Amino acid sequence: MINQTSSPYVAGSSSSEEMRRVFQMQRDAFSQRQPRSYAERIDALDALLAAILHHKMDLVEAMSEDYGHRAPQESLLMEMFPVVDEIRYMKRNLKRWMRPERVRTTLQLWPSRTSVFKQPLGVVGIMGAWNYPLYLTLLPLVDVLSAGNHAMIKPSELAPRTAELIQQMLAGIFPPEYVSVILGGTEAASLFSSLPFDHLLFTGSSRVGKLVMRAASENLTPVTLELGGKSPALVHESFPMSLAADRICSAKFWNAGQTCVAPDYAMVPEARLDEFLDAARAVTARRLPNPATTPDYTRMIDRSHWDRMAALVEDARCKGAQIYQIGAATETGNTEDRMFPPTLVTNVNDRMRIMQEEIFGPVLPILTYPSIDTAIQYINQHAHPLALYYFDHSRSRVRHILERTTSGGATINDCIFHLSESNLPFGGVGASGMGAYHGLDGLNTFSHRKGVLAMDRAVSWSMARFLKPPYTRWSDRILRFLLRPSS
Ligand code: NAD
Repeated sequence: MINQTSSPYVAGSSSSEEMRRVFQMQRDAFSQRQPRSYAERIDALDALLAAILHHKMDLVEAMSEDYGHRAPQESLLMEMFPVVDEIRYMKRNLKRWMRPERVRTTLQLWPSRTSVFKQPLGVVGIMGAWNYPLYLTLLPLVDVLSAGNHAMIKPSELAPRTAELIQQMLAGIFPPEYVSVILGGTEAASLFSSLPFDHLLFTGSSRVGKLVMRAASENLTPVTLELGGKSPALVHESFPMSLAADRICSAKFWNAGQTCVAPDYAMVPEARLDEFLDAARAVTARRLPNPATTPDYTRMIDRSHWDRMAALVEDARCKGAQIYQIGAATETGNTEDRMFPPTLVTNVNDRMRIMQEEIFGPVLPILTYPSIDTAIQYINQHAHPLALYYFDHSRSRVRHILERTTSGGATINDCIFHLSESNLPFGGVGASGMGAYHGLDGLNTFSHRKGVLAMDRAVSWSMARFLKPPYTRWSDRILRFLLRPSS
Protein backbone atom coordinates (compact mmCIF):
# COMPACT_ATOMS: atom_id res chain seq x y z
CA MET A 1 0.00 0.00 0.00
CA ILE A 2 1.01 3.59 -0.49
CA ASN A 3 1.83 5.46 2.70
CA GLN A 4 -0.04 8.71 3.24
CA THR A 5 2.58 10.90 4.88
CA SER A 6 3.23 14.57 5.21
CA SER A 7 6.87 14.13 4.38
CA PRO A 8 9.89 16.41 4.64
CA TYR A 9 9.91 17.35 0.96
CA VAL A 10 12.66 19.57 -0.22
CA ALA A 11 11.04 22.90 -0.96
CA GLY A 12 12.51 25.91 -2.73
CA SER A 13 16.05 25.59 -3.96
CA SER A 14 17.64 22.54 -2.39
CA SER A 15 21.11 22.53 -0.96
CA SER A 16 23.63 19.90 -1.84
CA GLU A 17 23.33 18.36 1.69
CA GLU A 18 19.55 18.14 1.51
CA MET A 19 19.69 16.52 -1.89
CA ARG A 20 22.30 14.01 -0.78
CA ARG A 21 20.26 13.25 2.33
CA VAL A 22 17.15 12.50 0.28
CA PHE A 23 19.22 10.43 -2.11
CA GLN A 24 20.79 8.40 0.72
CA MET A 25 17.38 7.90 2.31
CA GLN A 26 16.08 6.53 -1.00
CA ARG A 27 19.13 4.34 -1.53
CA ASP A 28 18.81 2.87 1.98
CA ALA A 29 15.09 2.34 1.60
CA PHE A 30 15.63 0.57 -1.71
CA SER A 31 18.37 -1.72 -0.51
CA GLN A 32 16.71 -2.61 2.81
CA ARG A 33 13.49 -3.98 1.41
CA GLN A 34 12.28 -6.75 -0.87
CA PRO A 35 11.85 -5.67 -4.46
CA ARG A 36 8.40 -4.17 -4.94
CA SER A 37 5.86 -6.80 -5.89
CA TYR A 38 3.49 -6.57 -8.81
CA ALA A 39 0.65 -5.61 -6.42
CA GLU A 40 2.73 -2.81 -4.85
CA ARG A 41 3.63 -1.40 -8.25
CA ILE A 42 -0.01 -1.45 -9.32
CA ASP A 43 -0.93 0.32 -6.06
CA ALA A 44 1.60 3.03 -6.87
CA LEU A 45 0.23 3.46 -10.40
CA ASP A 46 -3.33 3.59 -9.09
CA ALA A 47 -2.40 6.22 -6.50
CA LEU A 48 -0.68 8.30 -9.17
CA LEU A 49 -3.63 8.01 -11.54
CA ALA A 50 -6.11 9.00 -8.83
CA ALA A 51 -3.98 11.98 -7.78
CA ILE A 52 -3.60 13.25 -11.35
CA LEU A 53 -7.32 12.99 -12.02
CA HIS A 54 -8.12 14.57 -8.67
CA HIS A 55 -5.80 17.53 -9.36
CA LYS A 56 -6.66 17.70 -13.06
CA MET A 57 -7.91 21.27 -13.24
CA ASP A 58 -5.37 22.58 -10.67
CA LEU A 59 -2.61 21.19 -12.85
CA VAL A 60 -4.13 22.71 -15.99
CA GLU A 61 -4.35 26.07 -14.25
CA ALA A 62 -0.79 25.86 -12.94
CA MET A 63 0.53 25.10 -16.43
CA SER A 64 -1.48 27.96 -17.89
CA GLU A 65 -0.09 30.33 -15.25
CA ASP A 66 3.44 29.19 -15.98
CA TYR A 67 2.90 29.91 -19.66
CA GLY A 68 1.07 33.19 -19.14
CA HIS A 69 -1.73 31.43 -20.97
CA ARG A 70 -2.16 28.00 -22.44
CA ALA A 71 -5.23 26.43 -23.99
CA PRO A 72 -6.61 23.98 -21.37
CA GLN A 73 -7.26 21.49 -24.16
CA GLU A 74 -3.55 21.43 -24.98
CA SER A 75 -2.65 20.63 -21.38
CA LEU A 76 -5.28 17.92 -21.18
CA LEU A 77 -4.50 16.39 -24.57
CA MET A 78 -0.74 16.71 -24.71
CA GLU A 79 0.26 16.38 -21.05
CA MET A 80 -2.38 14.67 -18.99
CA PHE A 81 -3.80 12.17 -21.44
CA PRO A 82 -0.41 10.62 -22.36
CA VAL A 83 0.44 10.10 -18.68
CA VAL A 84 -2.98 8.62 -17.88
CA ASP A 85 -2.75 6.47 -21.00
CA GLU A 86 0.73 5.24 -20.05
CA ILE A 87 -0.51 4.25 -16.57
CA ARG A 88 -3.41 2.29 -18.07
CA TYR A 89 -1.14 0.68 -20.65
CA MET A 90 1.37 -0.36 -17.99
CA LYS A 91 -1.37 -1.77 -15.79
CA ARG A 92 -2.63 -3.90 -18.70
CA ASN A 93 0.79 -5.32 -19.49
CA LEU A 94 2.94 -5.19 -16.37
CA LYS A 95 2.17 -8.65 -15.01
CA ARG A 96 3.25 -10.29 -18.27
CA TRP A 97 6.30 -8.05 -18.70
CA MET A 98 7.54 -8.60 -15.15
CA ARG A 99 7.79 -12.38 -15.62
CA PRO A 100 11.25 -13.72 -16.44
CA GLU A 101 11.45 -14.06 -20.24
CA ARG A 102 12.28 -17.57 -21.39
CA VAL A 103 14.72 -17.49 -24.30
CA ARG A 104 16.05 -20.29 -26.54
CA THR A 105 19.16 -22.18 -25.51
CA THR A 106 21.93 -22.75 -28.03
CA LEU A 107 22.74 -26.28 -29.13
CA GLN A 108 25.93 -26.66 -27.06
CA LEU A 109 24.17 -25.85 -23.76
CA TRP A 110 20.83 -27.51 -24.51
CA PRO A 111 18.78 -28.61 -22.54
CA SER A 112 19.87 -26.03 -19.96
CA ARG A 113 17.24 -23.34 -19.30
CA THR A 114 17.92 -19.73 -20.20
CA SER A 115 15.92 -16.68 -19.24
CA VAL A 116 16.12 -12.92 -18.84
CA PHE A 117 15.28 -11.77 -15.35
CA LYS A 118 14.17 -8.15 -14.91
CA GLN A 119 15.31 -6.34 -11.79
CA PRO A 120 14.75 -2.76 -10.63
CA LEU A 121 17.90 -0.64 -10.88
CA GLY A 122 17.53 1.28 -7.61
CA VAL A 123 17.17 5.06 -7.36
CA VAL A 124 16.42 6.73 -10.69
CA GLY A 125 16.78 10.48 -11.31
CA ILE A 126 14.33 12.24 -13.65
CA MET A 127 15.16 15.73 -14.94
CA GLY A 128 12.23 17.28 -16.80
CA ALA A 129 12.02 20.16 -19.25
CA TRP A 130 9.57 23.05 -18.94
CA ASN A 131 7.72 22.71 -22.23
CA TYR A 132 5.56 19.78 -21.07
CA PRO A 133 6.23 20.02 -17.35
CA LEU A 134 3.73 17.33 -16.34
CA TYR A 135 4.33 14.86 -19.15
CA LEU A 136 8.12 15.03 -18.99
CA THR A 137 8.25 14.29 -15.26
CA LEU A 138 5.30 11.96 -14.68
CA LEU A 139 5.44 9.79 -17.78
CA PRO A 140 9.01 8.70 -16.98
CA LEU A 141 7.87 8.25 -13.36
CA VAL A 142 5.23 5.76 -14.52
CA ASP A 143 7.92 3.68 -16.25
CA VAL A 144 10.37 4.04 -13.35
CA LEU A 145 7.82 2.90 -10.74
CA SER A 146 6.49 0.12 -12.97
CA ALA A 147 10.04 -1.24 -13.08
CA GLY A 148 10.10 -1.25 -9.25
CA ASN A 149 12.51 1.63 -8.68
CA HIS A 150 12.53 4.60 -6.34
CA ALA A 151 12.57 8.04 -7.98
CA MET A 152 13.88 11.54 -7.48
CA ILE A 153 12.43 14.16 -9.79
CA LYS A 154 13.88 17.55 -10.70
CA PRO A 155 11.25 19.53 -12.63
CA SER A 156 12.27 22.58 -14.64
CA GLU A 157 12.50 25.89 -12.82
CA LEU A 158 10.83 27.60 -15.81
CA ALA A 159 7.46 26.09 -14.89
CA PRO A 160 7.57 26.75 -11.12
CA ARG A 161 3.87 26.55 -10.30
CA THR A 162 3.50 23.20 -11.99
CA ALA A 163 6.69 21.97 -10.31
CA GLU A 164 5.38 22.93 -6.87
CA LEU A 165 2.02 21.35 -7.49
CA ILE A 166 3.67 18.13 -8.69
CA GLN A 167 5.78 18.17 -5.53
CA GLN A 168 2.72 18.59 -3.28
CA MET A 169 0.71 16.03 -5.20
CA LEU A 170 3.41 13.35 -5.02
CA ALA A 171 4.13 14.15 -1.37
CA GLY A 172 0.49 13.34 -0.65
CA ILE A 173 0.71 9.83 -2.06
CA PHE A 174 4.30 8.62 -1.78
CA PRO A 175 6.75 8.59 1.13
CA PRO A 176 9.95 10.56 0.42
CA GLU A 177 12.15 7.48 0.50
CA TYR A 178 10.12 6.21 -2.46
CA VAL A 179 9.40 9.32 -4.57
CA SER A 180 10.86 12.80 -3.94
CA VAL A 181 10.65 16.04 -5.86
CA ILE A 182 13.58 18.45 -5.76
CA LEU A 183 12.95 22.08 -6.65
CA GLY A 184 15.49 24.66 -7.71
CA GLY A 185 17.25 26.33 -10.63
CA THR A 186 20.28 25.47 -12.71
CA GLU A 187 22.56 25.14 -9.68
CA ALA A 188 20.21 22.59 -8.11
CA ALA A 189 19.95 20.84 -11.50
CA SER A 190 23.70 20.64 -11.77
CA LEU A 191 23.99 19.17 -8.24
CA PHE A 192 21.15 16.78 -9.00
CA SER A 193 22.92 15.43 -12.09
CA SER A 194 26.01 14.71 -10.00
CA LEU A 195 24.19 12.36 -7.58
CA PRO A 196 25.22 8.71 -7.98
CA PHE A 197 21.87 7.53 -9.37
CA ASP A 198 21.41 4.03 -10.69
CA HIS A 199 20.02 5.64 -13.85
CA LEU A 200 19.42 9.23 -14.89
CA LEU A 201 16.89 10.40 -17.46
CA PHE A 202 17.41 13.94 -18.70
CA THR A 203 15.09 15.87 -21.01
CA GLY A 204 16.40 19.13 -22.42
CA SER A 205 18.82 20.59 -24.91
CA SER A 206 21.85 18.86 -26.43
CA ARG A 207 24.04 21.54 -24.81
CA VAL A 208 22.93 20.72 -21.25
CA GLY A 209 22.67 17.03 -22.16
CA LYS A 210 26.46 16.98 -22.58
CA LEU A 211 26.94 18.54 -19.13
CA VAL A 212 24.57 16.05 -17.56
CA MET A 213 26.31 13.13 -19.24
CA ARG A 214 29.69 14.41 -18.08
CA ALA A 215 28.46 14.69 -14.46
CA ALA A 216 26.84 11.24 -14.62
CA SER A 217 30.02 9.69 -16.01
CA GLU A 218 31.84 10.51 -12.75
CA ASN A 219 29.54 7.99 -11.04
CA LEU A 220 29.27 5.65 -14.04
CA THR A 221 25.56 6.42 -13.94
CA PRO A 222 23.88 5.26 -17.14
CA VAL A 223 21.90 8.01 -18.85
CA THR A 224 18.91 8.31 -21.11
CA LEU A 225 19.10 11.65 -22.89
CA GLU A 226 15.91 12.98 -24.42
CA LEU A 227 17.16 15.94 -26.44
CA GLY A 228 15.88 18.04 -29.31
CA GLY A 229 16.99 19.02 -32.79
CA LYS A 230 15.60 20.16 -36.10
CA SER A 231 12.87 17.74 -37.16
CA PRO A 232 12.03 18.07 -40.87
CA ALA A 233 8.59 17.67 -42.47
CA LEU A 234 9.14 16.52 -46.05
CA VAL A 235 6.25 16.61 -48.53
CA HIS A 236 6.31 14.55 -51.72
CA GLU A 237 4.99 16.25 -54.85
CA SER A 238 2.18 13.68 -55.16
CA PHE A 239 0.73 14.55 -51.75
CA PRO A 240 -2.09 17.15 -51.56
CA MET A 241 -0.35 20.36 -50.39
CA SER A 242 -3.40 21.62 -48.49
CA LEU A 243 -3.55 18.48 -46.35
CA ALA A 244 0.19 18.53 -45.68
CA ALA A 245 0.08 22.24 -44.80
CA ASP A 246 -2.80 21.69 -42.38
CA ARG A 247 -1.10 18.82 -40.59
CA ILE A 248 2.33 20.45 -40.44
CA CYS A 249 1.03 23.84 -39.27
CA SER A 250 -1.32 22.33 -36.68
CA ALA A 251 1.57 20.36 -35.19
CA LYS A 252 3.91 23.34 -35.37
CA PHE A 253 1.58 25.77 -33.61
CA TRP A 254 0.42 23.43 -30.84
CA ASN A 255 1.87 24.85 -27.65
CA ALA A 256 3.20 27.71 -29.83
CA GLY A 257 5.87 25.47 -31.29
CA GLN A 258 7.40 24.66 -27.90
CA THR A 259 7.34 20.93 -28.58
CA CYS A 260 10.47 18.81 -28.92
CA VAL A 261 8.94 16.81 -31.80
CA ALA A 262 7.29 19.78 -33.54
CA PRO A 263 8.19 19.95 -37.23
CA ASP A 264 11.09 22.41 -37.16
CA TYR A 265 10.94 23.19 -40.89
CA ALA A 266 8.98 22.07 -43.94
CA MET A 267 10.43 20.95 -47.29
CA VAL A 268 8.19 21.13 -50.34
CA PRO A 269 8.82 20.69 -54.10
CA GLU A 270 9.98 23.94 -55.72
CA ALA A 271 7.02 24.07 -58.07
CA ARG A 272 4.48 23.67 -55.22
CA LEU A 273 5.78 26.36 -52.84
CA ASP A 274 3.04 28.90 -53.52
CA GLU A 275 0.33 26.29 -53.16
CA PHE A 276 1.79 25.11 -49.84
CA LEU A 277 2.29 28.63 -48.53
CA ASP A 278 -1.24 29.74 -49.42
CA ALA A 279 -2.68 26.65 -47.77
CA ALA A 280 -0.49 27.12 -44.67
CA ARG A 281 -1.56 30.75 -44.29
CA ALA A 282 -5.22 29.91 -44.83
CA VAL A 283 -5.34 27.00 -42.44
CA THR A 284 -3.45 28.82 -39.69
CA ALA A 285 -5.70 31.86 -40.02
CA ARG A 286 -8.72 29.55 -39.80
CA ARG A 287 -7.48 27.61 -36.75
CA LEU A 288 -6.02 30.61 -34.89
CA PRO A 289 -7.88 33.58 -36.41
CA ASN A 290 -6.49 36.10 -33.96
CA PRO A 291 -3.65 34.63 -31.93
CA ALA A 292 -3.64 37.59 -29.54
CA THR A 293 -7.20 36.98 -28.39
CA THR A 294 -8.08 33.37 -29.15
CA PRO A 295 -7.99 31.18 -26.01
CA ASP A 296 -6.57 28.38 -28.16
CA TYR A 297 -3.11 29.88 -28.59
CA THR A 298 -0.33 29.38 -26.05
CA ARG A 299 2.22 32.02 -25.00
CA MET A 300 6.01 31.77 -24.94
CA ILE A 301 7.21 30.38 -21.61
CA ASP A 302 9.21 33.49 -20.72
CA ARG A 303 10.47 36.77 -22.06
CA SER A 304 13.86 35.37 -23.11
CA HIS A 305 12.15 32.80 -25.35
CA TRP A 306 9.96 35.54 -26.85
CA ASP A 307 13.06 37.64 -27.49
CA ARG A 308 14.82 34.67 -29.06
CA MET A 309 11.91 34.17 -31.50
CA ALA A 310 11.90 37.86 -32.41
CA ALA A 311 15.68 37.77 -32.97
CA LEU A 312 15.46 34.65 -35.16
CA VAL A 313 12.78 36.23 -37.35
CA GLU A 314 14.65 39.53 -37.57
CA ASP A 315 17.87 37.75 -38.50
CA ALA A 316 16.05 35.87 -41.29
CA ARG A 317 14.39 39.07 -42.54
CA CYS A 318 17.76 40.86 -42.69
CA LYS A 319 19.23 37.98 -44.69
CA GLY A 320 16.50 38.12 -47.33
CA ALA A 321 13.67 35.90 -46.01
CA GLN A 322 9.98 36.63 -46.60
CA ILE A 323 8.02 36.67 -43.34
CA TYR A 324 4.28 35.94 -43.06
CA GLN A 325 2.69 36.40 -39.66
CA ILE A 326 -0.84 35.35 -38.86
CA GLY A 327 -3.39 37.58 -37.13
CA ALA A 328 -4.34 41.23 -37.18
CA ALA A 329 -1.91 43.73 -35.68
CA THR A 330 0.49 41.01 -34.63
CA GLU A 331 3.27 41.96 -36.97
CA THR A 332 5.81 41.78 -34.18
CA GLY A 333 3.77 39.97 -31.56
CA ASN A 334 3.08 41.14 -28.09
CA THR A 335 5.94 41.35 -25.61
CA GLU A 336 3.79 41.99 -22.53
CA ASP A 337 1.79 38.80 -22.59
CA ARG A 338 4.51 36.88 -24.49
CA MET A 339 2.25 36.12 -27.47
CA PHE A 340 4.41 35.40 -30.49
CA PRO A 341 2.30 35.05 -33.64
CA PRO A 342 2.39 31.96 -35.87
CA THR A 343 5.05 32.84 -38.43
CA LEU A 344 5.83 31.31 -41.83
CA VAL A 345 9.18 32.03 -43.48
CA THR A 346 10.17 31.52 -47.12
CA ASN A 347 13.33 32.36 -49.10
CA VAL A 348 15.31 30.62 -46.43
CA ASN A 349 19.01 29.77 -46.53
CA ASP A 350 21.53 28.08 -44.27
CA ARG A 351 23.16 31.38 -43.23
CA MET A 352 20.05 32.22 -41.23
CA ARG A 353 19.89 31.33 -37.55
CA ILE A 354 16.49 29.67 -38.06
CA MET A 355 18.29 27.01 -40.09
CA GLN A 356 21.22 26.68 -37.71
CA GLU A 357 19.50 26.11 -34.36
CA GLU A 358 16.40 24.33 -33.11
CA ILE A 359 13.57 26.88 -33.35
CA PHE A 360 11.38 25.63 -30.48
CA GLY A 361 8.75 28.28 -31.11
CA PRO A 362 5.98 29.21 -33.59
CA VAL A 363 8.18 29.93 -36.60
CA LEU A 364 8.05 27.61 -39.61
CA PRO A 365 10.70 27.98 -42.33
CA ILE A 366 9.51 26.53 -45.63
CA LEU A 367 12.34 25.22 -47.81
CA THR A 368 12.04 24.01 -51.37
CA TYR A 369 13.78 21.09 -53.01
CA PRO A 370 14.35 20.21 -56.68
CA SER A 371 14.24 16.42 -56.17
CA ILE A 372 13.57 14.03 -53.30
CA ASP A 373 17.21 12.90 -53.42
CA THR A 374 18.46 16.43 -52.78
CA ALA A 375 15.99 16.72 -49.88
CA ILE A 376 17.34 13.48 -48.39
CA GLN A 377 20.88 14.75 -48.91
CA TYR A 378 20.05 17.98 -47.08
CA ILE A 379 18.57 16.12 -44.12
CA ASN A 380 21.55 13.77 -43.97
CA GLN A 381 24.05 16.64 -44.01
CA HIS A 382 22.65 17.77 -40.66
CA ALA A 383 22.52 16.21 -37.18
CA HIS A 384 20.10 13.31 -36.74
CA PRO A 385 16.72 14.83 -35.84
CA LEU A 386 14.43 13.65 -33.03
CA ALA A 387 11.61 13.07 -35.54
CA LEU A 388 11.07 13.00 -39.27
CA TYR A 389 7.75 13.54 -40.99
CA TYR A 390 7.13 12.38 -44.53
CA PHE A 391 3.98 12.94 -46.55
CA ASP A 392 3.45 10.42 -49.33
CA HIS A 393 0.99 7.58 -50.05
CA SER A 394 3.56 5.42 -51.88
CA ARG A 395 4.71 2.65 -49.56
CA SER A 396 7.89 2.00 -51.50
CA ARG A 397 8.95 5.67 -51.36
CA VAL A 398 8.08 5.82 -47.64
CA ARG A 399 10.31 2.81 -47.07
CA HIS A 400 13.06 4.42 -49.13
CA ILE A 401 12.93 7.58 -46.99
CA LEU A 402 12.91 5.61 -43.75
CA GLU A 403 15.92 3.59 -44.91
CA ARG A 404 17.89 6.57 -46.18
CA THR A 405 17.41 8.89 -43.18
CA THR A 406 18.10 8.44 -39.46
CA SER A 407 15.83 10.05 -36.90
CA GLY A 408 14.66 9.24 -33.36
CA GLY A 409 11.18 8.37 -34.64
CA ALA A 410 8.87 9.16 -37.54
CA THR A 411 5.23 9.74 -38.38
CA ILE A 412 4.12 9.23 -41.96
CA ASN A 413 1.42 11.53 -43.39
CA ASP A 414 1.06 13.50 -40.16
CA CYS A 415 3.24 14.89 -37.38
CA ILE A 416 3.93 14.09 -33.72
CA PHE A 417 1.49 11.17 -33.39
CA HIS A 418 4.18 8.47 -33.13
CA LEU A 419 4.93 9.95 -29.71
CA SER A 420 1.48 9.01 -28.43
CA GLU A 421 1.74 5.34 -29.36
CA SER A 422 2.72 3.39 -26.24
CA ASN A 423 3.80 0.37 -28.28
CA LEU A 424 6.63 2.41 -29.83
CA PRO A 425 9.94 3.32 -28.21
CA PHE A 426 10.40 7.07 -27.85
CA GLY A 427 13.89 8.54 -27.94
CA GLY A 428 16.48 10.29 -30.07
CA VAL A 429 19.56 9.19 -31.94
CA GLY A 430 22.92 10.93 -32.18
CA ALA A 431 22.54 14.61 -31.31
CA SER A 432 18.82 14.16 -30.56
CA GLY A 433 19.48 11.78 -27.69
CA MET A 434 20.20 8.25 -26.57
CA GLY A 435 18.06 5.52 -25.09
CA ALA A 436 14.29 5.32 -25.13
CA TYR A 437 11.27 4.98 -22.88
CA HIS A 438 7.45 4.58 -23.07
CA GLY A 439 5.78 1.21 -22.58
CA LEU A 440 7.95 -1.89 -22.71
CA ASP A 441 10.98 0.19 -23.72
CA GLY A 442 10.48 2.27 -20.57
CA LEU A 443 10.26 -0.82 -18.42
CA ASN A 444 13.43 -2.22 -20.01
CA THR A 445 15.31 1.08 -19.74
CA PHE A 446 14.67 1.29 -16.01
CA SER A 447 15.32 -2.40 -15.31
CA HIS A 448 18.43 -4.47 -15.26
CA ARG A 449 17.86 -7.33 -17.71
CA LYS A 450 19.85 -10.07 -16.08
CA GLY A 451 20.70 -13.04 -18.30
CA VAL A 452 20.40 -16.28 -16.33
CA LEU A 453 21.49 -19.76 -17.36
CA ALA A 454 20.29 -22.71 -15.25
CA MET A 455 22.85 -25.35 -16.19
CA ASP A 456 21.42 -28.73 -16.99
CA ARG A 457 22.93 -31.52 -14.93
CA ALA A 458 23.60 -33.64 -18.02
CA VAL A 459 25.45 -30.78 -19.75
CA SER A 460 27.61 -30.25 -16.63
CA TRP A 461 28.50 -33.88 -16.51
CA SER A 462 29.07 -34.36 -20.21
CA MET A 463 30.35 -31.56 -22.40
CA ALA A 464 31.21 -28.94 -19.74
CA ARG A 465 33.31 -31.44 -17.79
CA PHE A 466 35.73 -31.84 -20.71
CA LEU A 467 36.28 -28.13 -21.18
CA LYS A 468 38.51 -27.97 -18.09
CA PRO A 469 42.05 -29.27 -17.59
CA PRO A 470 43.42 -31.81 -17.82
CA TYR A 471 42.38 -31.65 -21.48
CA THR A 472 41.79 -34.96 -23.19
CA ARG A 473 40.85 -36.39 -26.54
CA TRP A 474 37.24 -35.57 -25.62
CA SER A 475 38.16 -31.93 -25.15
CA ASP A 476 39.67 -31.83 -28.64
CA ARG A 477 36.63 -33.56 -30.12
CA ILE A 478 34.27 -31.09 -28.49
CA LEU A 479 36.38 -28.15 -29.69
CA ARG A 480 36.41 -29.60 -33.21
CA PHE A 481 32.61 -29.86 -33.01
CA LEU A 482 32.25 -26.30 -31.73
CA LEU A 483 34.51 -24.95 -34.47
CA ARG A 484 33.20 -27.23 -37.23
CA PRO A 485 33.15 -25.73 -40.70
CA SER A 486 29.54 -24.89 -41.35
CA SER A 487 27.45 -22.07 -42.71
P1 NAD B 1 17.78 23.14 -21.30
O1 NAD B 1 18.71 22.06 -21.68
O2 NAD B 1 18.16 24.53 -21.61
O3 NAD B 1 17.47 23.06 -19.76
C1 NAD B 1 17.04 21.84 -19.15
C2 NAD B 1 17.29 21.88 -17.68
O4 NAD B 1 18.66 21.70 -17.49
C3 NAD B 1 16.93 23.19 -17.00
O5 NAD B 1 15.75 23.01 -16.28
C4 NAD B 1 18.12 23.48 -16.09
O6 NAD B 1 17.74 23.52 -14.73
C5 NAD B 1 19.01 22.29 -16.28
N1 NAD B 1 20.43 22.67 -16.30
C6 NAD B 1 20.99 23.81 -16.68
N2 NAD B 1 22.34 23.76 -16.53
C7 NAD B 1 22.61 22.53 -16.05
C8 NAD B 1 23.81 21.85 -15.71
N3 NAD B 1 25.00 22.43 -15.81
N4 NAD B 1 23.71 20.59 -15.26
C9 NAD B 1 22.52 19.98 -15.15
N5 NAD B 1 21.35 20.58 -15.47
C10 NAD B 1 21.40 21.84 -15.91
O7 NAD B 1 16.41 22.76 -22.03
P2 NAD B 1 15.00 23.39 -21.89
O8 NAD B 1 15.02 24.80 -22.33
O9 NAD B 1 14.40 23.07 -20.56
O10 NAD B 1 14.20 22.49 -22.96
C11 NAD B 1 14.30 22.72 -24.32
C12 NAD B 1 15.04 21.60 -25.00
O11 NAD B 1 14.55 20.34 -24.56
C13 NAD B 1 14.82 21.61 -26.49
O12 NAD B 1 16.02 21.32 -27.14
C14 NAD B 1 13.82 20.48 -26.71
O13 NAD B 1 13.84 19.92 -27.99
C15 NAD B 1 14.26 19.53 -25.67
N6 NAD B 1 13.17 18.61 -25.32
C16 NAD B 1 13.30 17.30 -25.62
C17 NAD B 1 12.27 16.43 -25.32
C18 NAD B 1 12.35 14.97 -25.63
O14 NAD B 1 11.52 14.21 -25.14
N7 NAD B 1 13.31 14.52 -26.42
C19 NAD B 1 11.11 16.90 -24.71
C20 NAD B 1 11.03 18.25 -24.41
C21 NAD B 1 12.06 19.11 -24.71
